[in-house]
Amino acid sequence: MRSTLTQWVEIDPAAYCSNLKVFRKILGGRSRLMAVVKADAYGHGLDLVAPLAARGGADVLGVNNLEEGLRVRELGLDLPVVVLGYIPLARLGDAFEAGLEPVLYNAASLIRLHEAAKGAGRKAPFHLKLETGVNRQGVMEEDLQDILLLIRNLDGLSMAGVSMHFANIEDTTDHAFARFQLVNFNRMIGRVESVLGRRPPVHAACSAAAILLKETHFDMARVGISSYGLWPSKETYLSTILLHQDPPRLEPVLSWKTRIAQIKRIPADSHVGYGCSFRATHPIRMAVLPVGYYDGYDRRLSGQAQVLVKGKRAPVLGRVCMNMLMADVTDIPDAAVEDEAVLIGAQGKERITADELAAACHTINYEIVARIGAHVPRVVRDA
Ligand SMILES: *Cc1c(COP(=O)(O)O)cnc(C)c1O
Repeated sequence: MRSTLTQWVEIDPAAYCSNLKVFRKILGGRSRLMAVVKADAYGHGLDLVAPLAARGGADVLGVNNLEEGLRVRELGLDLPVVVLGYIPLARLGDAFEAGLEPVLYNAASLIRLHEAAKGAGRKAPFHLKLETGVNRQGVMEEDLQDILLLIRNLDGLSMAGVSMHFANIEDTTDHAFARFQLVNFNRMIGRVESVLGRRPPVHAACSAAAILLKETHFDMARVGISSYGLWPSKETYLSTILLHQDPPRLEPVLSWKTRIAQIKRIPADSHVGYGCSFRATHPIRMAVLPVGYYDGYDRRLSGQAQVLVKGKRAPVLGRVCMNMLMADVTDIPDAAVEDEAVLIGAQGKERITADELAAACHTINYEIVARIGAHVPRVVRDA
């Protein structure tokens, strides 16, 4: 099957399950593990990853929108699913019927969800998001009392969680702002408890928080990037060492591969690609690969990145095109047409990391993997 593809993303189930186990251990017995599979499982493919997460011991799945939540149900998975992103008011009823748990932060959506649950014979679970300093989603502290009084009156609702999100925990080795957010959060949870008369399950941690600060674990952690074997940032890695912790062993789950479409020799002084941006100073043996920026191989990688052929690094020559790129295989004389070329992942003793491509693009590894085109087939790696 693979021989018929021009490019594909390979998922390593053992690596993914091993990463989940790492977080199980970090969290201990008290906190549940939400595997965040939003954005098509960070580009890894929701259809492959969601069942793996369920089998690999995730307690809860986190998706971005209603469509992703419904897809999880179509896959036959019945574990709790929290919708982290926005659901239009008109579709909150669909979310309720599919047993999804929306994250809400305003009166209109609370009232709509309550109405959807009326007469259904069961309550509508939801999570209340609190604003503690990111200034994204979330109830502002000054509005909290009114929202809680409303919730107390809407008997169709059942608060399945109260949550917050960190603003910069992965951006710095100084966690003063994260701690400031925690202080705000704990104060607001106190308010929730006193108005509702009970403490709902609490969750706050993303990957970096789960790794770095135990006091962020609460009743559940929402782990995304590091379940895919990637560090949230260099700062997070450095922080674990500064905190005298053993950095957890994370295994990258995703590889991105293609095959060589053409090999040819170009003479000295000739140019390669659009803009004639590369000019050969000596004769070059060049490979054409059928992957371009349309597929998610960023154009900013032009002349910057390398690909692997026969276990060796081949520099990208000239500009990345819409559907193609060229690589220098002069020093890989046995490279041949239809040979596998690795854009992200390992081959022989070499590895191209998402972090390496992210650095070349001045972005983060999250963006590199999440933007691999949805049209690129996702396949399970051969054992
Ligand atoms: C994406 C997301 C996460 C996961 O963050 P990572 O840094 O990928 O672990 C957690 N919580 C919320 C609300 C998110 O949107």
